[in-house]
Amino acid sequence: MRKGRGQSGFEMISRREFVTIPFAVAAGMSLRWRDDCSDFTMPNDTPNSRQLYPGVYQVESLFGGRNLFQYLFVGDNIVLLDTGLAYTPEHTIFPAMKKLGLEPQRLNLAITSHADGDHQGGNDAIKHAVPTAWLACGDADRAMVEDPRTLWEQRYNFLKQDYGVGIDPEPSPDVGKPRQMDLTFAGGERIRIQRDWDLELLHVPGHSHGHLALLDRKQKVAFAGDAIHGQGCPRADGAMALPVTYYYVDAYLSTLRLFENLPIETLYSGHWPTLRGAEIRDFIAVSRQTVQTFDQVILTQLAAHPRGVGMQELIDAIGNAFSDWPKDTLVFAMFAVKGHLDRLVEYGKAREIRDSRPFKWVPA
Ligand SMILES: [Zn+2]
Repeated sequence: MRKGRGQSGFEMISRREFVTIPFAVAAGMSLRWRDDCSDFTMPNDTPNSRQLYPGVYQVESLFGGRNLFQYLFVGDNIVLLDTGLAYTPEHTIFPAMKKLGLEPQRLNLAITSHADGDHQGGNDAIKHAVPTAWLACGDADRAMVEDPRTLWEQRYNFLKQDYGVGIDPEPSPDVGKPRQMDLTFAGGERIRIQRDWDLELLHVPGHSHGHLALLDRKQKVAFAGDAIHGQGCPRADGAMALPVTYYYVDAYLSTLRLFENLPIETLYSGHWPTLRGAEIRDFIAVSRQTVQTFDQVILTQLAAHPRGVGMQELIDAIGNAFSDWPKDTLVFAMFAVKGHLDRLVEYGKAREIRDSRPFKWVPA
């Protein structure tokens, strides 16, 4: 979407709304800090955040019954991992910071782990409220993180025309407004939180091309965003909410292997429960088993339909194999189904028939 005069005007109105809230009066204050307040003690928890270990907080809210987590890293610099939905900064992140005694204006950097509405939606709100904070995302996700319409068309509805599956045509306002990134990461960079504390950026593709995770090597902790899917995304009450939504299968498998070999004892993510020790290995094993089940179901369907099988039939078959996935969210299996078919075509095990829409696949 191009920025027109009307849209700029709309942005100005939003900004005035933001600058009426009290913390914004601190705009322009120095972002170098803490040298003079090292004896300041922050509370451990607030109603919408909890301390994971000194200087690190999990900020929590609910989205469609699922947990939606952001992470705050607090030292000489303050870094936020993920910005939630359009309203998450104002409703959840900033209130959590204020209750911890942190003026939101002290936020230096907000990293979007990957291109998805529930992880990037708050970017515009962050930048409006804290113009000095830098926004960042994975290099390969940049176009989709910067523009909700691009996200909608290239990530959520890119299968609609050819395969007949997709979601609402218009971007939801919940996924935020267009907002440019200040920098992008490709993995391997380090962010200094304070003198003796670095976070390492990991490139963990599969769910998206540019997906990032953070590694705190000293504490043996990783923050994985939505890089690992297990057998689907759970609701906060433990029931299944969504199918797995990885797309690039071989990249996803390499990401699983990367996490398997990381020197970590604790794994935090965007929606899944905290995993420790052997639970991490088990979660990765279940994730890999899910990939194998997808291949088996799709190959079985191909063999049963020598004249061609379509996306909807394959989604239904996958839904039978994973019976705890709710029927009303089953459409989100389309990403992994398409990813597996791309891979089967690449490996010479399937062929796409493009005579008429929706396109179908046959065994090769
Ligand atoms: Zn997510």
